[in-house]
Amino acid sequence: MKKKSFPVGLSFDVDGETLWTARDPENAKRPVQLSMGAYGLIEGVPRILKLLAKYELPASFFVPGMICERYPDVVRRIAGMGHEIGNHGYSHTHPHKFSAEDAERNELIRTSALIEKLSGKPPKGYRSPAWEFSPRTVNLLRELGIDWSSNMMHTDQIHRLEVFGQKTDIVEIPVSWMLDDAAYWLYSLLLVGKAMQPLAAVEEYWKTEFEELYREYMEDEAGERKNQCYMLTCHPQVIGRPARMKLLETVVCFIRSFPNVEFMTGAQMRDRYRKLANEAEFQA
Ligand SMILES: [Zn+2]
Repeated sequence: MKKKSFPVGLSFDVDGETLWTARDPENAKRPVQLSMGAYGLIEGVPRILKLLAKYELPASFFVPGMICERYPDVVRRIAGMGHEIGNHGYSHTHPHKFSAEDAERNELIRTSALIEKLSGKPPKGYRSPAWEFSPRTVNLLRELGIDWSSNMMHTDQIHRLEVFGQKTDIVEIPVSWMLDDAAYWLYSLLLVGKAMQPLAAVEEYWKTEFEELYREYMEDEAGERKNQCYMLTCHPQVIGRPARMKLLETVVCFIRSFPNVEFMTGAQMRDRYRKLANEAEFQA
């Protein structure tokens, strides 16, 4: 049986200053904390776009509404280079912290409108700030016309999003903290216990995880792993440092050296999954 290419996703959560202001509103008064976030927009995104252009790779960027308002030109530039832009909340408030449904809904609506204004199309993908859902989140995503999500961690396979026994027609592209740069390098004196990890350790994690997911996919004769994927999550303020960008390039080149690999946006993975899925079952 000839296999389809193994799907690889590069995703970038462009949190900017909201990473700090959502943790503690008092951080809005701390210019140095804010500057760590601004680095992602000022230095990180341009380096990432350059790397993606060099290898002609598509990617998915998730941008909070507040960052769309503060850096509209950066968001326009990302979209102008053909990358997908997804909804990442407005203020980066973790959804489970909203006390009222309307507050969560309004953040999502406001951000989708901003992204549509800047990119020309409404976002269809959603990544939650900090990978948390409230019990209301799924219904709000459906209301908004979001049809793919990248938040869950219980499997390595693309699947239909199911929460609290409720099956949806939203396509879920799973993630993991191991394939997230923030787990290794997000650092601040405010984050007690956080320590930066060696570049070589992260390189080994990211390469080995790819190798093994790819090997399982290629060796799978029964089709049990046909929806397996590799989704890397990075943050421009974290990965955007020159040393880490060099590591990202090394990992990208490593992945590209394997046959039958396809770099895809989240929307492309969604379409691939739908095509592979039994259409009748999907429509049910
Ligand atoms: Zn984020």
